[in-house]
Amino acid sequence: QTVKTSTFNASQGTAKKSTPISQRLGSRNRQPIALISIHGDPDVDIGREEAGGQNVYVRQVGEALAKLGWQVDMFTRKIHANQPTIVQHSPYCRTIRLSAGPLEYIPRDELFEYLPEFVTAFQNFQAKEGTNYPLVHTNYWLSAWVGLQLKKHHNVQLVHTYHSLGKVKYQAVSHRPSIADTRLAIEQQILEQSNTVIATSPQEEEVLRYLVSQNGHISVIPCGTNLENFHVISKPEARLKLGLDPQKPIILYVGRFDPRKGIETLVRACHQYQTTTNASFKLIIAGGSDPNKTDGQERQRIEDLVNELGLTEQTCFPGQLSHDILPLYYAAADVCVVPSHYEPFGLVAIEAMACGTPVIASNVGGLKFTVIPEETGLLVPPQDINGFADAINRILTDDVWTQKLRKQASVRVSENFSWVGVAIRLSDLYRRILAESIMDERLLPLSRSITASEITTIPVTNPT
Ligand code: UDP
Repeated sequence: QTVKTSTFNASQGTAKKSTPISQRLGSRNRQPIALISIHGDPDVDIGREEAGGQNVYVRQVGEALAKLGWQVDMFTRKIHANQPTIVQHSPYCRTIRLSAGPLEYIPRDELFEYLPEFVTAFQNFQAKEGTNYPLVHTNYWLSAWVGLQLKKHHNVQLVHTYHSLGKVKYQAVSHRPSIADTRLAIEQQILEQSNTVIATSPQEEEVLRYLVSQNGHISVIPCGTNLENFHVISKPEARLKLGLDPQKPIILYVGRFDPRKGIETLVRACHQYQTTTNASFKLIIAGGSDPNKTDGQERQRIEDLVNELGLTEQTCFPGQLSHDILPLYYAAADVCVVPSHYEPFGLVAIEAMACGTPVIASNVGGLKFTVIPEETGLLVPPQDINGFADAINRILTDDVWTQKLRKQASVRVSENFSWVGVAIRLSDLYRRILAESIMDERLLPLSRSITASEITTIPVTNPT
């Protein structure tokens, strides 16, 4: 096995000296848990087609849980022979890449057939390391299937986060992939059969109850953001550092190039804003893309639209931005627009608000939970070009009000959406589930009694 030691960047926290795995595994007072994220590698560059909020979530939650006392292993699928099998991020948190199917990128809709191999690889890994994960937290429906298989054969407690929901996704697409029915069935099974699923907003909980199942447990625990990285920076300072015009209003989009992200609505709204007010502005559309993949096609479509609407001069595409530089972009902007057709949570909105930037977002999903209209930004119906144009106009023309929005936005995030806070709530949940499972086992006839170490290995949740 190839092992890479920690290569932290500023977005992921403070760099730590890595500890040899033998020493790490020698530590018996930590409860091991597995986070499974088959297509969302927690160690890759984010902001691309297959890498976005899910990768950030798993990595940040994993790192924060390790700081709370757990031994965290994050499992994903290896897609290149030259990727290290194990990446140690900090003494008690690592990414483990398992081989399942060919060592190449495979679109997520085509991954299902390789999942049995993933289950076998996971079991082999456990056997080889002599570790048993009593709790597995799966992410996205593909990992949910793996979790359900593990639960069938082992005494595993299962927690799941959806990140995206087939029932919502397929409402908006004309062509349903052939895997759709399988996905929908698994999304229902995981709600009904796991210990609990995590809804990242009360709106997601409602959707799950309404569209997926009335049965099963749901715990509402939001996503978070790294407050050490995403914080208020003065606008002039940020613009100076980025070499941006100190005066011209800046409208910012950050995210993947995907038609469901609604970038087209934003571009058309900017065009309308310009036509009706004759105002000057800069539109920055940030996000990675690969010309050979679908995000590359979407970027080309958006660039064509920008040119067709005569916005070429005003618009720039800086490409994929790392979390090291993103805070400067958020802080430099007058407004960040999140025009998604649907968003279960929407990390970009809280990252921008944490930097003190008001957000105009579609009034869908988690965005209705994070953005407080008139207080931290504005909400507009999805795909409503006039609505977005009016909202942009309001925010760019009322300086006094926007100063208030800026302040309230950063306070909202620091008080409600830190990864540390998220991890504390997840940690409490895991502890409760594990404690209940031990009690259940004790109630079974012929069951063994609980050992003292079983109780003490459930870690405390105070951050250290
Ligand atoms: N992102 C990034 N660089 C980019 C574009 C996006 O780091 O150029 C990150 C962004 O900061 C956020 C994540 O990708 O953390 C997107 O998460 P979100 O929940 O907004 O959308 P998703 O990708 O899950 O649909």
